Amino acid sequence: MDDYLSGEEEDDYYYTSDQESLEGLDHDQSNLHPLSSSGNTAKVITKESLLAAQREDLRRVMELLSLKEHHARTLLIHHRWDVEKLFAVLVEKGKDCLFSGAGLTLAGDDPTFSPSSSMMMTCDICVEDVAGHHHMTRMDCGHCFCNNCWAAHFTVKINEGQSKRIRCMAYKCNAICDEDVVRSLVSKTQPDLADKFDRFLIESYIEDNKMVKWCSSTPHCGNAIRVEDDELCEVECSCGFQFCFSCSYQAHSPCSCSMWELWRKKCHDESETVNWITVHTKPCPKCYKPVEKNGGCNLVTCICGQSFCWLCGGATGRDHTWSSISGHSCGRYQEDKEKQLERAKRDLYRYMHYHNRYKAHIDSSKLEDRLSDTILEKVSILEKRQLQFKDFSWVTSGLHRLFRSRRVLSYSYPFAFYMFGEELFKDEMSAEEREIKQNLFEDQQQQLEANVEKLSKFLEEPFDQFADDKVTQIRIQVINLSVAVDTLCKTMYECIENELLGSLQVGIHNIAPYSSNGIERASDFISSREAGGEKCQASNSGCSSEDTSCSPRKRPRKEGIYRNNQTTLLDLNLPADVIERK
Ligand SMILES: [Zn+2]
Ligand SMILES: [Zn+2]
Ligand SMILES: [Zn+2]
Ligand SMILES: [Zn+2]
Ligand SMILES: [Zn+2]
Ligand SMILES: [Zn+2]
Ligand SMILES: [Zn+2]
Repeated sequence: MDDYLSGEEEDDYYYTSDQESLEGLDHDQSNLHPLSSSGNTAKVITKESLLAAQREDLRRVMELLSLKEHHARTLLIHHRWDVEKLFAVLVEKGKDCLFSGAGLTLAGDDPTFSPSSSMMMTCDICVEDVAGHHHMTRMDCGHCFCNNCWAAHFTVKINEGQSKRIRCMAYKCNAICDEDVVRSLVSKTQPDLADKFDRFLIESYIEDNKMVKWCSSTPHCGNAIRVEDDELCEVECSCGFQFCFSCSYQAHSPCSCSMWELWRKKCHDESETVNWITVHTKPCPKCYKPVEKNGGCNLVTCICGQSFCWLCGGATGRDHTWSSISGHSCGRYQEDKEKQLERAKRDLYRYMHYHNRYKAHIDSSKLEDRLSDTILEKVSILEKRQLQFKDFSWVTSGLHRLFRSRRVLSYSYPFAFYMFGEELFKDEMSAEEREIKQNLFEDQQQQLEANVEKLSKFLEEPFDQFADDKVTQIRIQVINLSVAVDTLCKTMYECIENELLGSLQVGIHNIAPYSSNGIERASDFISSREAGGEKCQASNSGCSSEDTSCSPRKRPRKEGIYRNNQTTLLDLNLPADVIERK
């Protein structure tokens, strides 16, 4: 491998072996992209920490408003567990409005109404007379029924999956029943059902929560992820699965969620294959076997011996001239049919064009995944050699950028398929406008593609075996290309957000922002009580990575390049604006 670097290629890069600028690149951390300097905000909520996470929010509301747990829960469910929003409503509109908005009615406790042992009372539902003290229960709303009737009511509701909001039995009473009462009445006779009730309540924290989602890994890892401020993001669970927080599918930017949904269906559908068959074959009118046409002649003959007209599919005799088939005329009908076929064919070829490229990059990224195993070996060999530089973070950093940009590249194809196709934005752009935008985008895409391939090539080199000066050259190339692909990805996202999706009338297409460091890895959730950092958690912001009082609890992660520890990843980051300093 002597000619791995030709003189011509060298000119494509932003700078060559200029030791001074390289020193600057390695040590200057002050110009990090703002995205990469912000601390982790996404949290992994495990089965164990789920209860703690929920309690924390409940406690804040209970303490501030002096409420019972089920009242706090009713308010929180109504506001989809968004404590900040709930408090904002409280400040803006007051307590009464907050309560009535959530359907919460708090009748003042009236002790004279509580059933006592001395009284015999009649249950309005079953009309039986029972001793008040042991057999009747009064809810907060003031309605009082016998325990058997309450228990029967709760059983029905829990089995219907309504744990979160079991309402009072009284006619037109909307009050939510006290959880403790439900639990104690149900568990007496049906402990299993009481467990189910509790499980539903806990899971409401995930299912009714705008900011919390189950990790969508299969098989399910059991974790949920909580994000702090923006639901439009991509996260990585501690199980390693990366997904789009908005739609829960695998991370797919720069495709929008709805584009990805369409693309997924399109790829899984057999419809394209079916389409191919309709374009290329016709069923025989006699035996219905698909017959392929070979040659330009529109009279085809099936293996069963039947002849038919390719244009209309009608059975014919065998004789024909250049312009007509004997005893057969399909007239005007054939024109429409032909146009339809042309269109289907064009659509299919267009889809295949984008799908092939999308698939090629997905396949490459699978192959490159294997690089992470071998590349650590290469680094350890290099470390033992007496090279003039001792820092090999450019290798892992370069590989990380390669993975990241390869993903961006593959998902940029389905994006382009929909962005410049007719399915979604037919009336959004004129044909000329579409062409200009498509050219702009494809230029960026091709530049990115070229640089990604180069980066991949250099990282695959057996550079641990190379002579010192060649290792130095490889290092320069990898650093330059890492910066280049990052900048190109960033430019592409900006172009999509501003020029392409940003110019549309329909505002439903949004993409998760690009981050040079890759998709954010969620850190473990620890409740403020556990961490002893009450203020830090309660403020819901300002929870920066430097703040030791709420730094994520470290737990041993699987050995791997990017999982060794979190600070390594940040240190490896290359300043994105190095290009400007050329
Ligand atoms: Zn009753
Ligand atoms: Zn009631
Ligand atoms: Zn997971
Ligand atoms: Zn999505
Ligand atoms: Zn046939
Ligand atoms: Zn012929
Ligand atoms: Zn015909």
